[in-house]
Amino acid sequence: MMRQYELVERVTKYDPDANEDLLNRAYVYAMKAHGNQKRASGEAYFNHPLEVAAILTEMKLDDATIAAALLHDTVEDTEATSAEIEEKFGKEIAALVDGLTKIAKLDLVTKEATQAENLRKLLLAMSKDVRVLLVKLADRLHNMRTLHHVKPEKRARIAQETMEIYAPLAGRMGMQTVRDELEDIAFRVLNPEANRIITERLEKLHAESGDILREIEQALVAKLGENGIQAEVCGREKRPFSIWRKMERKLLSLGQLSDIFGFRVIVGTVDQCYRSLGIVHRTWRAVPGRFKDYISTPKQNDYRSLHTTVIGPHHMRVEMQIRTRLMHEIAERGVAAHALYKDAPDAKEGLDGFRQPAAESNAYRWLRHLVEMLQEGESPKEFLEHTKLELFHDQVFCFTPKGQLIALPRGATPIDFAYAVHTSVGDSCVGCKINGRHAPLVTELQNGDEVEIIRSEAQVPPAAWEGLAVTGKARAAIRRATRVAVRRQFSGLGREIVEKLLAKHERKFLDKEVAAALPRLGHKNLEDSLVAVGRGELSGHDVLRAMGIAVEEGKAREPRRKISAKKGDAADELSIPVRGVSRSAALRIAPETGAVPGERIVGIITPGEGITIYPIFARALEQFDNQPERWVDLAWDSQAAEKMFPARIAVTIMNEIGSLAQVTQVIGDLGGNIDALQMVAREGARDFFDLDITVEVRDLKHLNDIMMGLRTKNAVSSVQRKTG
Ligand code: MN
Repeated sequence: MMRQYELVERVTKYDPDANEDLLNRAYVYAMKAHGNQKRASGEAYFNHPLEVAAILTEMKLDDATIAAALLHDTVEDTEATSAEIEEKFGKEIAALVDGLTKIAKLDLVTKEATQAENLRKLLLAMSKDVRVLLVKLADRLHNMRTLHHVKPEKRARIAQETMEIYAPLAGRMGMQTVRDELEDIAFRVLNPEANRIITERLEKLHAESGDILREIEQALVAKLGENGIQAEVCGREKRPFSIWRKMERKLLSLGQLSDIFGFRVIVGTVDQCYRSLGIVHRTWRAVPGRFKDYISTPKQNDYRSLHTTVIGPHHMRVEMQIRTRLMHEIAERGVAAHALYKDAPDAKEGLDGFRQPAAESNAYRWLRHLVEMLQEGESPKEFLEHTKLELFHDQVFCFTPKGQLIALPRGATPIDFAYAVHTSVGDSCVGCKINGRHAPLVTELQNGDEVEIIRSEAQVPPAAWEGLAVTGKARAAIRRATRVAVRRQFSGLGREIVEKLLAKHERKFLDKEVAAALPRLGHKNLEDSLVAVGRGELSGHDVLRAMGIAVEEGKAREPRRKISAKKGDAADELSIPVRGVSRSAALRIAPETGAVPGERIVGIITPGEGITIYPIFARALEQFDNQPERWVDLAWDSQAAEKMFPARIAVTIMNEIGSLAQVTQVIGDLGGNIDALQMVAREGARDFFDLDITVEVRDLKHLNDIMMGLRTKNAVSSVQRKTG
């Protein structure tokens, strides 16, 4: 256990003015308060707050934060009270401990509604003073380091919470080192199999390539030195979790993933960064499309660096990050690098009650923005959607034609872009040009895209856009703008359907006559029932029957039966758990792609037939681009039944004995059902087979697990989702 004087020395080393008396008193108070308490490992409980304090000294935090770290579990776990802390240590430290006590009991891996509420409480507790977050992250880091002492059931829950909430939060705050370690430990707990496979592969590669890291390091230092640049170069192998994430995101197999070596080049000035980049590019061939300039356009968490990938010695792809010492500090420590409050002349209570760091960082501004949203009183569920998205997606940077920078989460579309510029731009958006060329509004924006929004005042955004937007702002605005307009479109479509059916019986559509049948249809007014017909929730024939018109049996056949006749019984089709349509709507899942819970979906209405569910990446959707009235906004019901859903995937395997067996084995082992499997003939090349597989899975995560499992097999060269 660290001694009292050792802790104090650590702090005074980087902050000679630190209040030693405060640190000593907090140490003694916490040690006494925890008394004989033990941790799961059997060691003295006090060791935990002490380790947390030690982690924070590595981030060079002020004395108040270190004291709060020592005291962070006293109110929660001992006889100590908040009032006593305030009396002994003052308001500032009491407020920090209070924030930490409040979040100690939150369970962030729970039902969606509770999770949203808890996340909101967490962020509120932290946002009053960003140091609460720093202590909390250090607390979580130490708990993760000692996680192996905890019971297995509890272990998985803590790891999941870390992966979903705390690691992304650390990342969002720019604290890369903390984030990496949290993710690594959580990954080992949550996905031991993937961790093992990747680690083994790394070891093998290591054995084959020898000390390539040193070799490249030396070559880099020498090359830069020849050009008068003194650089510190540090090579490292990527971590198993970041490799795994890359495999998932880029749909690569392990064999295709070659750039697993990364180098950091730290130089003196910004000018040297760019010069070093030039030297690197003249020495080795640059991989096209991999250069990123985060110096001129920093990430939202303040991260700045130049990134590039080159083909290095031994034809290895090598990733490089070039930065100055200060950029490096901020990249590693993020908000903590800004968070020294003590004696900063401008450390003050902000107008809105926030305590602001001396220099407000972008990351901190983000946290503050989040809290402003909370105060605007969004529903917890909407809030969770928003926050999770903002936490989990990296971002892309795009520009308006006038050069204004718009930062958006990865996966954002021109619709998000339009709403990010202004709500009125989003509401009147009818099309777009990306880099000067017309492009569909479903296009995923890429870094550096220049986006021009084409507007029409007559436009009303179709409801389905909500499914195409990824930012909370766009989704909320679309929801507002479309509610009324969409109803109007559906009622128009419903009227058309009923009119056509009436015409077959040589009758005219008269509002009065149709209205008279309303009680029998269970609707209050004409508009409601026409909307229901338009949405496919009520059949036109039902309306005719309610009007007393004899409808022939053959023609009266309910649309949903026609569809469900394809497979299973009607009840089966009706139980697709989606929100956005009535329970009685006739639903089917697009056979070209399949669709599984967890992915974003939209519905396309075919009047008289029902609604087909497509994942938003389905190519088939393009043909409906100019028929907005047929799009229905759908979302998977989070209460999804214990059911399996189809997804179609394309798998390329080597033409070898046992290849196919490997594929079916992986799918079976991971609990998927193969619903259909087809060998697709391949022109020319004889050494590979393409498979077209419809696999039934529980949800997107299950599907991803299966696709990942397939990618780890030697016989499998690629696995991709079919887009139709
Ligand atoms: Mn703790």
